[in-house]
This record gives sequence, C-alpha cells and structure tokens, in this order.
Amino acid sequence: MKPVAYQHHGFTLWQLPVLRDNYIYVLFPEASHTAWAIDPALAPAVRRHCQQHQRPLAHIWNTHHHWDHTDGNSQLAEYYGCEVWAAASDAQRTPAVTQLLQDGDHRCIDGLNIEVLHLPGHTDGHLAFCIGHALFCGDVLFSAGCGRIFEGTHAQMLHSLARLHALDDAFSVYCAHEYTEMNLIFALKVADTLNDETWRQACRQRWHQVQQLRADKKPSVPSTLAEEKRSNPFLQVWREDFQRSYAQAHGCACDALAVFTHLREWRNRG
Ligand code: ZN
Ligand code: FE
Repeated sequence: MKPVAYQHHGFTLWQLPVLRDNYIYVLFPEASHTAWAIDPALAPAVRRHCQQHQRPLAHIWNTHHHWDHTDGNSQLAEYYGCEVWAAASDAQRTPAVTQLLQDGDHRCIDGLNIEVLHLPGHTDGHLAFCIGHALFCGDVLFSAGCGRIFEGTHAQMLHSLARLHALDDAFSVYCAHEYTEMNLIFALKVADTLNDETWRQACRQRWHQVQQLRADKKPSVPSTLAEEKRSNPFLQVWREDFQRSYAQAHGCACDALAVFTHLREWRNRG
C-alpha cells in the first residue's frame, strides 16, 4: 500500500502504512511549511515523506507510549529538533518527550486547534487528539472494534469509548491499526447470536464495503464516527435492546458494562 492523502479544513493528512498493520499520520498544515507526525512508529518512513515534500518535521504527537507508536520519536527529534507531545502521566516512558498534555488541553498551532482527550483503558495515559473533524484515537477505538485493555479496567475503557461516542457523527476516525476485517468477522459472529437484524445488516453492509476496499488495496481506515456508531459492536452496548438481546444470549447482566466486558473478553479469545 502507498501513502494516501486526505484533505481536511486547514491541512492535508497523509496516511503511511508501516510495519504489519500500523498507520503513521503525517499532517501538513496549510498555514505553515512544516509537518507534524502522529504516532511515528518508524523514523525513516516519516523522514522520507517529509523530505519528499520539503517540509521539516516540527511536531510529534503520541497517543500512547507503546513502541509501535513511539519508536521513531528519538531519531526524529534528534534530526529535526521537533517538539514531542505526550501525556503528562507518560512523561517517564515516552522517548524524547518535550511537551506534556492532559485531558481538556487545547493548543492552537499553525492555525489549527488541537483538543486533547485523556482516554484510559488500553493504557493509563492514552490520549486522543481532535483536529477539526479528524479524530486521532490511537488504540482506543478501532474501525469496527476497540483496543485491548492492557493497563486500565473495563469500566475505564467503556467510559473512554462513551466520550468518543458523544462526539459529532461527522468526525473521520483515524485509528492506528488496520484491523477492520478481523473486527468485522468478530462483529458478524456476535450478530449471529443476537436478535438484532438492523445491526446485523449494518455489519454485513460494512463487510462488503471493506472487502471491496481491501481487494482494491485501499485502506479501510478512516471510517466516520457515524459508521462506528452504526456498526461497531463495542458502541452498541448503551442501547437497551442490544443489552437485552445480548444478556439473553450470553447470560450476562443486562447493563452496558457487563455486556461490554463480555464482548471484550470474547474478542480476546476469538
Ligand atoms: Zn497500543
Ligand atoms: Fe498499537
């Protein structure tokens, strides 16, 4: 796969596929001649891209400390002398960090507003960044799925997802991994156990779309928040009819946290 460009209000966003299934996002603000990188797993891919477009890297934004999101930090920071933004609570375990962030922070750089959400669950310090209608949610929300719970609790992860669920439908969801196909296979497996024909159809429809994209060697990311609210199994758990159907089929309690916990643990196994 080649880098793909997306046009947003005030910036161009490049999606670089790296490693097995990671995406690095490189953002070119219209108001400057610099570049920003979100979750640079590798330095050379980012450097090559910036050089090709003659834009020096000015900012790195890290959603969380995992190596497949931060391994490029040190080399890039050394080469460009750029700022490295990360969660204050992850200051000790984010390489080359220079600027610390917490929930509710806003920054305005190169005419762009960056809003910071602290979304624990996958890791304790996980952040998401909203820039215009682009949502960079790292490993919290995936296309048709959600991240594994490594450091937090199910309740924390559910709360983090609820905060994303509350955002505008029009957001593009730029998650950090290409997991959509596997996630939809799981979603369809779940749908087979439930009495929820509307949701099942939404998953089926999305499955066909994603099969087409993959056959054309195109990324299935980004999706929209509207699409995630429609088909992502982990974003169905607040619907009472979904809870009832799920609890009946799987013998768990009939509330969002119980259903979410069961779903997440099932996904870990399957
Ligand atoms: Zn991660
Ligand atoms: Fe990751």
